[in-house]
Amino acid sequence: MMADMHVDIYDYIQYPEYLEMEKGPFDREMRRSVDIPSMEKAGVRIFFASVCPIDPNNYSYEKDPISSVEKTKEFLRKWGFHPYERREGYILHMEGMGWSKGYEDVKRVISLGVKSIGPFWEKENVFGDNKGLKETGYRLLKENIILDMAHAPEGVIRDVYETDRTFIVSHTGLKRFVDVERNISDRVIRWVGEVGGVIGIFVDKDWGAHTPYLLAKHYNHIKRIAGEESVGIGTDFLGLKWSELGTLKRYEDFEKVFKWLRYMGWSSEEVENLKWRNVVRIIDGVY
Ligand SMILES: [Zn+2]
Repeated sequence: MMADMHVDIYDYIQYPEYLEMEKGPFDREMRRSVDIPSMEKAGVRIFFASVCPIDPNNYSYEKDPISSVEKTKEFLRKWGFHPYERREGYILHMEGMGWSKGYEDVKRVISLGVKSIGPFWEKENVFGDNKGLKETGYRLLKENIILDMAHAPEGVIRDVYETDRTFIVSHTGLKRFVDVERNISDRVIRWVGEVGGVIGIFVDKDWGAHTPYLLAKHYNHIKRIAGEESVGIGTDFLGLKWSELGTLKRYEDFEKVFKWLRYMGWSSEEVENLKWRNVVRIIDGVY
């Protein structure tokens, strides 16, 4: 069984041309990273269905972000997915809330069934900036949701850490291997470990890990700093261009990652924790 903390389902629904993926029926194996056959083959039974209402052609928020939540739910219903229950189903995730005008927008997306929020996609917004959390950001910490610090500035992550609140970094690279702003430092890895959170590594070719060996190396590094309870899968599948996926193109390819980890000395128990158990622990915290 596998759980994926970040699947950009809305990007696929709305912008498949940009992603160079085939748009065909979702229950058929096609040239795209996620479809029902790929999930079944690899045993992916839990995934965070991410709604990121940003047009990748010009990197600006859509005019009606709320409708993107409805569109995603409709798509998932159509293909037989159901909201998370008893270790199966999808968690509705909102990625990027810089469009919100006030706290009532947060309340609104939660009322639509969003159970996980990553408030940042940009470097600063109403929730905070590199100096730290703003009042709206502190308010968000009190909600019964999974808090995702992917894309967040380090100053914000520090402030969240200092409140002791558990958070995840669903899809990221590591500065240790690729030193860009988008990636997290060893300091952040340690913070995640201390608050009982989980980190997922995206299969991005430039900033993340796009081969089984590289991905295993990333997870090994996290384990060394934060412990084996802080590793989870977070592919960013359907959010990355097909042509740039390297040798981790579909869920089936992850078997090679797990083999590498065993080779690096991980027990089968630890690999299972990475595959789903750590993520389920986070989910159970809000359900
Ligand atoms: Zn993202």
